[in-house]
Amino acid sequence: AAPLVVAVSTSISAKQGLLIRNRADFEGARNLDAVVFDKTGTLTLGKFGVTDVVPIENYTDEGVLQLAAAIEQNSEHPIAAGIVNSTKEKGLTIGKVSDFESIPGKGIQGNVNGQKVNVVSPGYMDSHELRYNQERFEQLSEEGKTVVFVLAEDQLAGMIALADIVRDSAKEAVAALKAKGIHSIMLTGDNRKVANWVAKQVAIDEVYAEVLPNEKAHQIQQVKDSGRRVAMTGDGVNDAPALTTADLGIAIGAGTDVAMETADVVLVRSDPNDVVSLIDLSKKTYRKLV
Ligand code: ADP
Ligand code: MG
Repeated sequence: AAPLVVAVSTSISAKQGLLIRNRADFEGARNLDAVVFDKTGTLTLGKFGVTDVVPIENYTDEGVLQLAAAIEQNSEHPIAAGIVNSTKEKGLTIGKVSDFESIPGKGIQGNVNGQKVNVVSPGYMDSHELRYNQERFEQLSEEGKTVVFVLAEDQLAGMIALADIVRDSAKEAVAALKAKGIHSIMLTGDNRKVANWVAKQVAIDEVYAEVLPNEKAHQIQQVKDSGRRVAMTGDGVNDAPALTTADLGIAIGAGTDVAMETADVVLVRSDPNDVVSLIDLSKKTYRKLV
């Protein structure tokens, strides 16, 4: 049977919105050196709104949004909801898509009215040597906006900038971890300038940006290889391998089923401050045992 103090901590943790799925790893939470946070949906709300549309010559703002929204309807990425909602709010109709595919960490692709349409990241544009208004792109990114590019038949139609909301509690959590001597790290697939902008808002110690989904676990391994005991906090499908690789995998409650099933601890309230509560609870619980 579980020692009494552990049983008590289970009911305390449930009240605090912490679902502990792996006791041994929860115990290790009292000795963490670093906590890695996914950006979108963890440090931020993951609720995007369109702020700017920059069409090229023969396109209009509306035309670019409609093309993008048609294929984003099929995507579960937070960027997708932002584009679809903003398009609907303008009263624009959204067409049908076929042959939908996602390009992990880089965007999506589909067929709209017989036309191949993509919505992609700056990294995709650069690796395909597609040209765009670099100056405008950098200006938007420096404002902390995530920029995606809309392509029709592999030709640029325009760019769409979206803004997310940084959680107040993210800043508090980073400060509380720092007070405990724990290093905070951001891990994101988003552009470096956007990542740095969010990092500044929450005063995070270290940033890994433009990381592809299949590289996230590798980044966590590197932190471990530097001799540090590390937790990973995330919400997405793309985060599951990183959650497994970390000494402690923490899933944010509003996230995907895959993240929930992989995590050692689930934060029901999606509050980054609960990472701090969980460390405190681990310390209290296991200090009494030894
Ligand atoms: P993260 O979850 O860290 O923000 P992802 O790996 O999910 O990163 O995505 C990385 C980048 O890929 C996004 O910033 C965006 O540029 C692009 N991307 C991913 N999914 C979509 C989508 N549905 N529509 C447009 N761009 C996307
Ligand atoms: Mg993600």
